[in-house]
Amino acid sequence: MKTSRPIRARIAPAAILHNYRQAKRHAPQAKAWAVVKANAYGHGQWRAVEALRGEADGFALLECENAVALREAGVTQPILMLEGVFSARDVRAIADHAITTVVHCPEQLDLVLGNRPADKPLSLYLKLNTGMNRLGFTPAKLAEARTTLAQQTGIDLTLMTHFAEADGPRGVAEQLEQFRRMTEGWAAPVCLANSAAILHHPQTHGDWVRPGIMLYGASPFAEISAETLGLQPVMTLESAIIGVQDLAPGDRVGYGGTFTADKPMRIGVVACGYADGYPRHAPSGTPIAVMGRRTKTVGRVSMDMLACDLTDIPDAGIGAPVTLWGQGIAGTVPADEVATAAGTIAYELFCALAQRVPVSLDETLTVNRK
Ligand SMILES: *Cc1c(COP(=O)(O)O)cnc(C)c1O
Repeated sequence: MKTSRPIRARIAPAAILHNYRQAKRHAPQAKAWAVVKANAYGHGQWRAVEALRGEADGFALLECENAVALREAGVTQPILMLEGVFSARDVRAIADHAITTVVHCPEQLDLVLGNRPADKPLSLYLKLNTGMNRLGFTPAKLAEARTTLAQQTGIDLTLMTHFAEADGPRGVAEQLEQFRRMTEGWAAPVCLANSAAILHHPQTHGDWVRPGIMLYGASPFAEISAETLGLQPVMTLESAIIGVQDLAPGDRVGYGGTFTADKPMRIGVVACGYADGYPRHAPSGTPIAVMGRRTKTVGRVSMDMLACDLTDIPDAGIGAPVTLWGQGIAGTVPADEVATAAGTIAYELFCALAQRVPVSLDETLTVNRK
């Protein structure tokens, strides 16, 4: 819905394409699943699919309904269900629509094999638990699955795992070694790497990689900026100043009065709050840009508004444009910096963008089509 309230999110499809190409540049031998789960990390599943439809090797998501919808919309690339099927109906649907699915436990393997139509081939990603202990076959359960699968015909199998610390100091070595042990003598394609592994652990690239957050222009690493990684921001959250307050030393701002002016200050009130998806835990000092200048938030974020310091931006009055994150007319504020200030990650900020925020496509950025 278009609204006159000034908050807007703008999504740049060309930046998604640029970032996908960055993933491919880092893993030139591999094919890449564009991970569009969670409504493309809050960017809009269809916007991401449209941006990448001419180039993505495949699309990865969670729900069977969305996978089928992509097929029905004419997507011809492989489509992967990252948590696998949830019902017998899903099994029939993936067979009918040539959708690839993860299989991560014996129960799910039984569900798939017990409901697969006899006349249709199946493409399965067998997920191994190599140490993350979320989803995946353990070594103890793998032998039986391997025997069962060897007895099936018409199954195209890929071996996969997921790294818990590809972005951190422990890295991937232990999990990669465990993957090698578990798959010894097993000739099948492999798919291991998320964004962090694509960027930092080339030994994991294998046959397919699974870039997610990097497509949306945020960094998977706490210490390295998206810009340094050659990624372009995709989502920009913008609004405007709707109120101005002049503070005397000792005056407080917002609920709980958590911020106290220690000098005369000028405060701008921005039409953006936690009901728009801005993190309530962002403390005073979180970066924000107004009229092309970077400044800081002050006081608690409320449902519909937050405040920022305009003391050094005297020409910013009512109506002045504000960039909450992304690359906007009011300035550039990496979502990663806002996330770090709020004790979270850009993934969560993007996914939390609220339904009430109108979204438009930002076509100002262009990437040459090949
Ligand atoms: C979400 C997800 C990814 C993408 O991870 P990023 O850190 O966003 O690159 C890759 N693989 C699996 C199994 C996932 O669930």
